[in-house]
Amino acid sequence: MNENLIVSLKDIVVEFDGEKVLDGLSLDIHDKEFVTFLGPSGCGKTTTLRVIAGFITPKSGNVFFDGQDIADLPPYKRQVNTVFQKYALFPHLNVFENVAFGLRLQKDENGKKLSEALIREKVLEMLATVGLKGYERRSIHQLSGGQQQRVAIARSLVNSPRVLLLDEPLGALDLKLRKEMQLELKRLQREMQITFVYVTHDQEEALTMSDTVVVMNDGHIQQIGSPEDIYNEPCNAFVARFIGDSNIVDGVMLKDYLVSFGGQEFLCVDGGFAPNESVQVVIRPEDVEIVPPQDGALTGRVREVIFKGVHFEMHVDVEGYEWLIHSTHASQPGEIIGMNIAPDMIHIMRRTEG
Ligand code: ATP
Repeated sequence: MNENLIVSLKDIVVEFDGEKVLDGLSLDIHDKEFVTFLGPSGCGKTTTLRVIAGFITPKSGNVFFDGQDIADLPPYKRQVNTVFQKYALFPHLNVFENVAFGLRLQKDENGKKLSEALIREKVLEMLATVGLKGYERRSIHQLSGGQQQRVAIARSLVNSPRVLLLDEPLGALDLKLRKEMQLELKRLQREMQITFVYVTHDQEEALTMSDTVVVMNDGHIQQIGSPEDIYNEPCNAFVARFIGDSNIVDGVMLKDYLVSFGGQEFLCVDGGFAPNESVQVVIRPEDVEIVPPQDGALTGRVREVIFKGVHFEMHVDVEGYEWLIHSTHASQPGEIIGMNIAPDMIHIMRRTEG
């Protein structure tokens, strides 16, 4: 067994009302890794977190922690804490007492309660870490949403869990604050060297924060990989669409490194397909180069141009497909444009699932 693993899920099946919500899910999580479950609403992300936390007992399958099967370990004995989207703070306790709460219940190795001095030291240090130094006497209702979430994070980290489960913890915050908190959470995880298992349905959030992204759909894992892998090499059309805007067109792999689509042949970097295998071709909108029509491998008619701030989004009709192109140069609606795509920007997917 890989000694670097901290949590392993093996063939987990969870049913609600006779319906499979997790259908044979297996996953390894490494110590000190930032892992994100990404997928649409209802795909089973929260259920997977709750299985790790011990709030849900799977119908079948095993959960291992440090190589030990923890089926019989109740949630409070697992070295795992959870941060929820709703902060679940105690409104009648101030910031200090909210963070100190868990420590007051804790016993040291001799079965003795922690001293007030030690609790104070840990709480103040934790509040400073989450940027709330000097807030300890504030009551919860005097804090903004972002500050409340920082208290919740401080509370869940103060007793140094091995694994922190975070269920859409930034979902209630506005976009600007969410982006700030994403960077802070990443910093905290790095500094404290704790394994984070994070749930979100926001692709950008997953790509920004994670070492590993687990893309889920319908109770199944679709792909596991680094953010770069998931973005650049999606394994099927579901992942390609979910992880960002994509052009997905039908193609034929003529031979290794040569694919045909849109009536043209293109060099690509993929091999290992049967001759003339039918495939799907993924091209990101930012990877299409616009050139004069006579210089383009493909030509298309621009249907719509939308200004998006950093780029123009163009909808272009090409051989019966609508293509999406991002470019800093705006073409005009009705214009015929040429389009080139570099070999390493052409991603080939097998026609299996998704
Ligand atoms: P979201 O992003 O909306 O939170 P999710 O991916 O976290 O979605 P889950 O909360 O894991 O999804 O739910 C997966 C499926 O299980 C959903 O269809 C949900 O309705 C169902 N479900 C979850 N909890 C229960 C429950 N306690 N009883 C019955 N069905 C449930």
